[in-house]
Amino acid sequence: MEFNTKLLHGKEVRKYPYGATVPPISQVSAFTYETAEELEKVFQNRAPGFSYSRISNPVVDDFERRVCELENGIGAVACSSGMSAITLALLNILGAGDEVIAGSGLFGGTIDLFGDLEKFGITTRFAGHITVEEIEPLITDRTKAVFGEVIGNPGLDVVDIQRVADFLHERGVPFIADNTTATPYLVRPLDLGADIVIHSASKYINGGGNSISGLIIDSGRFRWNPERYQGFEKYKKFGKFAYLAKLRNGIWRNMGGCLAPMNGFLNIIGMETMGLRMERICENAKRLALALDSLAGISVNYPLLPHNPYRELTERQCRGLGGGILTIRAGSRERAYKIINGLKYACKATNIGDVRTLVIHPASTIYIHSTPAQQAAAGVYDDSIRVSVGIENGADLEEDFIAAIRASED
Ligand SMILES: *Cc1c(COP(=O)(O)O)cnc(C)c1O
Repeated sequence: MEFNTKLLHGKEVRKYPYGATVPPISQVSAFTYETAEELEKVFQNRAPGFSYSRISNPVVDDFERRVCELENGIGAVACSSGMSAITLALLNILGAGDEVIAGSGLFGGTIDLFGDLEKFGITTRFAGHITVEEIEPLITDRTKAVFGEVIGNPGLDVVDIQRVADFLHERGVPFIADNTTATPYLVRPLDLGADIVIHSASKYINGGGNSISGLIIDSGRFRWNPERYQGFEKYKKFGKFAYLAKLRNGIWRNMGGCLAPMNGFLNIIGMETMGLRMERICENAKRLALALDSLAGISVNYPLLPHNPYRELTERQCRGLGGGILTIRAGSRERAYKIINGLKYACKATNIGDVRTLVIHPASTIYIHSTPAQQAAAGVYDDSIRVSVGIENGADLEEDFIAAIRASED
């Protein structure tokens, strides 16, 4: 079964009450049972069922299963946001004294999070790029995980997942891949050896820009040695489900970063068109990148441009698709603002992965908390514009961007 069919007819697309074609929204906090004994069984995982929506909820469960199937994992946990997914995925395995290696070209919020973790004794070592060559010198006995974005937002570095995962596994270190920008339509990181996949489902999975949400998906293949990973002793009996069992019974449930039922529902509805949207978005983005790259006085970053160092890898790893984000360097901040302000269709907004084209000046907004060095490492400069390409007609977008760029010359 191929991707678009699986979105609608996969094994995790259940039969819903009354023959409804979409799941009901279980907009409820608690679930009642006839007897104390029944509730006891549900609480102790000895009977199937739901007790309280911070712990599990039918429509959220449905959403988790459906994304899990697309990413080919053994289980998924939905979170209130992408940031909560990243935080909880890491805190499930890290403690004071541990180290993480992360890419420098990550989403700004993630970079900030690694700073926040420092006061809890968790140190992050940043690699310019998540490549074997750049990770190797940073690995120590304390390295408990490597974190990278499959296609960096907004740096647009592409990780060679298989190569990095193979290298890390020889050293007993798991690879956590943030697949938000690539989506399972372009690549399934778990199939290439990544151990955990993270999504900000707020973006391409939802697709309509209407719900903040996140996901953690486990391959079940990494062996969490209790001598290296604190607290795993108790979960050994769960075998390949140890990571998920620890997460669900521990930090995820106790921090309370659960996904709201309504957002689970909106994500399922949005997700059903993910394949179609990604096809159109990637086509538009490539067309726009190629058209703008030839214009004088600006430079464009997009993984599929002929001069891009990640072109060959992207073609091989991501089914020839380059994703929906491109960045433009305008030469100066003034000109970047002029271009942004001159666009007719693009919304001036943060966020990516919407059906609408969105533009932003990252240095003055989403990267405002970062130092100029951190910004440069993430491919953010004073003259950069990030474009999250939408599903409008490609010709209209091309015309609009070319007109705004030309008008910004004088
Ligand atoms: C947006 C984003 C996040 C954070 O997700 P939220 O849903 O906004 O919390 C994490 N990683 C990447 C790559 C993102 O684009």
